[in-house]
Amino acid sequence: ATMPPLLSAIANAGRHGVLVKSAVVMERLGDVTRVALDKTGTLTEGAPRVAEVRVRAVGAGGWAGGGAGDGDGAGGGVGAGGGLGEDEVLALAAAAEHPSEHPLARAVVALAKERGLPVHAAEDFSSVPGRGVRAVVGGREVRVGSPLALLGGGVASAVGEVGAGGAVGAVREVEGAGRTAVVVLVDGVPAGVLGVEDRVRVGAGEAVAALGRLTGSAPVLLTGDNERAAEQLAGGVGITEVRAGLLPQDKVAAVREWEAAGEKVLVVGDGVNDAPALAAAHSGIAMGRAGSDLALETADAVVVRDELATVPAVVALSRRARRLVV
Ligand code: ADP
Ligand code: MG
Repeated sequence: ATMPPLLSAIANAGRHGVLVKSAVVMERLGDVTRVALDKTGTLTEGAPRVAEVRVRAVGAGGWAGGGAGDGDGAGGGVGAGGGLGEDEVLALAAAAEHPSEHPLARAVVALAKERGLPVHAAEDFSSVPGRGVRAVVGGREVRVGSPLALLGGGVASAVGEVGAGGAVGAVREVEGAGRTAVVVLVDGVPAGVLGVEDRVRVGAGEAVAALGRLTGSAPVLLTGDNERAAEQLAGGVGITEVRAGLLPQDKVAAVREWEAAGEKVLVVGDGVNDAPALAAAHSGIAMGRAGSDLALETADAVVVRDELATVPAVVALSRRARRLVV
């Protein structure tokens, strides 16, 4: 017997490196009118590295720090005036991040190991998707996460800046360089700001353009990361509509808003924070390699070969198969 078109399309998608979970999914992918892409781990490789570590400085109350890889040990000492040294902040952050599977957590742990720092066991670990983690390390409460979650409204206000002990200024500088700022609080006090860099995936711009052509609408970026890092990345891959600083439920709200307006949305994501949007959307595709288990289970299809070009390819396959189904 000849294979029904949707089944051959699934086999074909498999050859392209996408695992499509059912014929129904294969068929629905062809209806997509708008694509929403996640940033970290989806448009980027999801293998970020910590490029700088800033700590509350010795002395005058400013913030200092250097490139993570420069190895001059400038910030390695224990800061006077209550601040912790670069390595101390990094070791505490790595201990708290160790249980997390978030790409940023892996970057923090990787740098600590690279510097030969001990990664102590953490107790009472908890994480909030899209915000960060909390744990107790050696009797100290350590929180690592987004500036918005940990410095709150202070990120926007001059008053908060003073309240946050200058951390807000450090965050601004880090983000101004197009990096993702990760804040470290020790016992509730800002102790460090890490600047994290991630590379854009090869072929991301082409995939965005192809999805735009296929759906007839410009793909959008949905991210939990900060606006500046998001805009910088979006510009580089040809995305003009950006929604940044989103929590998992905000990504769902964006999807619902478009679907209420008659769109059929395809969400492409990788994280635990993307799972609710992957589930809520008309179609959801997860990036397999960097992807969290939850995203892989929730999505309708999984990119196994780690290339974004497979996403427009599978939409095109669905369209072709549907023309053959009568
Ligand atoms: P994206 O939507 O771009 O994939 P996420 O929603 O996963 O990003 O994360 C949003 C923001 O939350 C990150 O940019 C970071 O600031 C913060 N965050 C989330 N999880 C962690 C973590 N484990 N460690 C540090 N920061 C985190
Ligand atoms: Mg992500």
